[in-house]
Amino acid sequence: MTRLPRIELDFTSPPPVPAAAIRRANELMISGRLFRYGEAAPGELDVAVLEAAFAQLVGRRYCVAFNSCGASLAASLMAVRVLPGDPVLMNAFTLAPVPGAIAHAGGAPVFVGITPDYKIDLDNLRTAAERSGARCLMLSHMRGHITDMGRLMERAAELGLTVIEDCAHTLGAHWKNRPTGTFGAAGCFSTQTFKHVNSGEGGLLVTDDDDIAARAILLSGSYMLHDQHGTTPPPEAIERNRYTTPNLSMRMSALTAAIVHPQLELLDERAAIWNDRYLRLAALLADDPRIRVPERHVDEHYVGSSIQFSVDGLDDSAMLEWLSLAEAHGVHVKWFGRPEPVGFTSRFDHWRFANQQTLQATTAVLRGLCDLRIPLTMSADDCHVVAEIIRCALATTGRP
Ligand SMILES: *Cc1c(COP(=O)(O)O)cnc(C)c1O
Repeated sequence: MTRLPRIELDFTSPPPVPAAAIRRANELMISGRLFRYGEAAPGELDVAVLEAAFAQLVGRRYCVAFNSCGASLAASLMAVRVLPGDPVLMNAFTLAPVPGAIAHAGGAPVFVGITPDYKIDLDNLRTAAERSGARCLMLSHMRGHITDMGRLMERAAELGLTVIEDCAHTLGAHWKNRPTGTFGAAGCFSTQTFKHVNSGEGGLLVTDDDDIAARAILLSGSYMLHDQHGTTPPPEAIERNRYTTPNLSMRMSALTAAIVHPQLELLDERAAIWNDRYLRLAALLADDPRIRVPERHVDEHYVGSSIQFSVDGLDDSAMLEWLSLAEAHGVHVKWFGRPEPVGFTSRFDHWRFANQQTLQATTAVLRGLCDLRIPLTMSADDCHVVAEIIRCALATTGRP
């Protein structure tokens, strides 16, 4: 045990806010113009400017900014006309805001199992869709794992499903050179602190559909100031929806947009660091026979801001033992097998506001699933130390 090195690395350290963003945020605070709507032209309003830039970055016609990704996910469901009581399919492996967004829209979450490589199980998708009669799938690219989008969209079409993509971990990621968030009817991105752009809170919905864009604008709480958006659908689309779409006051503030916008040009730089660290860690961990690191598909251009791996075959007490040993040496690994939800990590059977389901294969995958954040401050050398701590902690576990 004493042979284990220790690392002083803050696994929770977020990407810093660049100087240009701080400058702009200060200007806004001095002016007091923090509300997204004003008397200015759209070109002078930070949120509208961000919407236009983000739509262009992802390659979709419209972007509507929200106060969180969870809010934008809920708005997407309402915008595709999910009605109270409607079943909505979702990956069983995701984060709590996803079933929360479905509940927010009044829908009933229906969990779909995952494969051992942490992606949605397409056979289970068919069964769950047919059994529930759901018309909509909220697909999470959870922790950046992107399923074969060609096959997924084909299956969704066969089953008559509208797809909403949860891209909280895939800003900058592609499947076959096509950005995530451009496959479904709408895609939602997060600018929460632990995602690829950090403004504390924030959500960005993208779509090509006039009516979804119009409803998203109205739902976000536009006070009918539609022309102060960065990407506005034709007036007819607003007209068709303005009397039937409530204002839910889930707007992004100017301050958030000012913090987000200058970070967009840093995405490639950040992704290069994350992927370098990811590949180092993946190679070192996969070298250990006790650890399984699923291989990534050649068409999956992920951004490795965190790494997932499986440790199968240990009982709960052995898992807790090696996790606390790693923790004592400075490596904070999250475990999706914990019986109780702890710090970000909850599981489908913890979301008891939804109908409970049994998904044995998925539960077995989650039992061994470990998750490690990759802070941008992790150096290439740190990767070796981190992997060694994980491997030594595992090797020590269960030994007398
Ligand atoms: C963070 C996250 C969200 C929602 O983001 P918020 O901006 O916090 O609402 C949705 N899905 C996944 C998988 C996430 O990790």
